[in-house]
Amino acid sequence: TDALLKVQELKTYYPIKGGVFGGRVGDVKAVDGVSFTIRRGETFGLVGESGSGKSTIGRTVLRLTEKTAGDVYFKGTDLYGLSRDELRKLRPSMQLVFQDPFSSLNPRMRVGEAIGEALIDHGLASKAEARERVREVLAVCGLLPDHYDRYPHEFSGGQRQRIGIARAIILNPDFVVADEPVSALDVSIQAQIVNLFSDLQERSGVTYLFISHDLSVVEHLCTQIGVLYLGTMVEQAPRDELFARPLHPYTQALLSAVPVPDPTVRRERIVLKGDIPSPANPPSGCKFHTRCPLAQPVCREQVPEYRDVGGGHYVACHLV
Ligand code: SF4
Ligand code: MG
Repeated sequence: TDALLKVQELKTYYPIKGGVFGGRVGDVKAVDGVSFTIRRGETFGLVGESGSGKSTIGRTVLRLTEKTAGDVYFKGTDLYGLSRDELRKLRPSMQLVFQDPFSSLNPRMRVGEAIGEALIDHGLASKAEARERVREVLAVCGLLPDHYDRYPHEFSGGQRQRIGIARAIILNPDFVVADEPVSALDVSIQAQIVNLFSDLQERSGVTYLFISHDLSVVEHLCTQIGVLYLGTMVEQAPRDELFARPLHPYTQALLSAVPVPDPTVRRERIVLKGDIPSPANPPSGCKFHTRCPLAQPVCREQVPEYRDVGGGHYVACHLV
């Protein structure tokens, strides 16, 4: 198949320590049985509120955080079946771009060296070759040759994110997880960075898992969108289908907050009551029932099945 990443029934739990003896008293079910596939060259948008488990999914599919159960296949290989050595060889081909690239940059290292560092660490280039590659990548990422010798604090937020992206793509990855890469940026800068992701994909065919709490950010970039609530995927569909025909009440609420460019189209804003509950103690049945405007008695009792309603459109709701 042309699947680059296949995730099946993935669970990632974090132990809660407590009590008199500091032992395990429960689990935070950060990711609680999630399945999806990303095809080569596609961009899968993962959307949900903070605390929905997006970042944990991103880290678990790169094996930067260990899974609790389920499977992750990268290019058909069981990622969790690999030895340390095999995993290290695979590392350059799967990269992470952070929300705040500044936090991962050494303030005392010149930016050019920081970008080229991984090439040298992985034994993929000599110092001279790395220097040459960094110059190319600076240009591709919309930075200037003389940025090479500058330090992180000398850059704006948007430029720092370009540096973070340059660090990831210099390794020529097949797969990049971008975890809220534009959330900390001004709206005017967000579009430029989203365009950079898109340009890089056109050049290299790289596949993205693009994480955001904002549906309008993923709208232009993503081919598939998955909506996450409390560690569970509640809906997934091809982008246009999801925007035209959202079926889950949670997706409908998220979409109602996305501005419509056409002023003659009116979309009624659905405001959800309350905050997202704690993943340490999720609601029974449909986890969304405590906030769902359409909840029925059955929703408290029974977990809705996640099923394909046609054309690769998946939804978990008793009413659909
Ligand atoms: Fe709402 Fe019930 Fe559907 Fe859950 S299953 S989204 S509570 S209607
Ligand atoms: Mg996060």
